[in-house]
Amino acid sequence: MATAFEAALLAGDIPALRAIPKADLHNHIIGGGNRDYVRDRTGVDIAPLDHVLNSMDEMHEWSGKHTGVAFKGPHGRMVGIEASFVQARLHGVTRLDGGEDVWAMTLWENREVARLTQTMRDIHARAAPEIEWIPQMGLSRHCPIKYLMEWSAPFFDLDFYQSIDLYADEFAQPINVFKPVYRAAKAKGLRLRAHAGEWGTADDVWQAVEELELDEVQHGIAAASSPQVMRFLADNRIRLNVCPTSNIMLGRVESMAAHPIRKLFDAGVIVTVNTDDALMFGIGATDEYLALYRAGVFTAAELDQIRLNGLTDQPLRP
Ligand SMILES: [Zn+2]
Repeated sequence: MATAFEAALLAGDIPALRAIPKADLHNHIIGGGNRDYVRDRTGVDIAPLDHVLNSMDEMHEWSGKHTGVAFKGPHGRMVGIEASFVQARLHGVTRLDGGEDVWAMTLWENREVARLTQTMRDIHARAAPEIEWIPQMGLSRHCPIKYLMEWSAPFFDLDFYQSIDLYADEFAQPINVFKPVYRAAKAKGLRLRAHAGEWGTADDVWQAVEELELDEVQHGIAAASSPQVMRFLADNRIRLNVCPTSNIMLGRVESMAAHPIRKLFDAGVIVTVNTDDALMFGIGATDEYLALYRAGVFTAAELDQIRLNGLTDQPLRP
């Protein structure tokens, strides 16, 4: 018998799909907001992208022009975060992994990381208390390690954050540069993840997992070009948190039907489906499942399995 999620996919029943629990484990929470909520709170109406971008530079330019204008300063950024909780809730996300960039502490008077953190906790309690929030510390791959270490320290000290991610230009600095901060995060018991294999190669995915001892990879889709790397990911139970629409809108993948998530899944790699920057792409968590289903990439039963991959706690690497 079909599960409720399968039946909702088969029927294209969006309200039913939205009501079913799902995870979003790859959500840059400042860019994940609900458009109506952002407009009501800031007066800025952010229309989603209507064309494919060609580079991360173009993406950063778009963000500067839109989210950068809507979410000014530390409190503006918190509105952006609140908008993401609103959007996640609307789409039945019950498990949300995301948080602020460690750099953002420099925007707060006296670099009050405890206050920044408490503000996010208040937002979570107010906007979506039923969501299991996995608070994440974010690192930009552009930043010198000296600063990342300095900015991360007070986040680690709070013993509140549960995961760490590295993002932005995948080619900004070699992956081994970030070892010190990942060692510190591992010592604190955080889940380790980083963006790799979005713009880079299968080897970049393998190297990132090895060098930083990652538990998960954000995107990692380039791994699909290497049977060896896929086997390595499958054997080590490294989960890939994939964002199909994002991959299309940033020109990484030609179409939904051609998305390499199918190949990864068939190779036994654990995958999840996520939104990346929902506000920019005009999507919610539900839409990604429906798009993969409608493009014939997965059956409804396979998508239900993928949904559950995000809701279950992955065992850490053996
Ligand atoms: Zn991302």
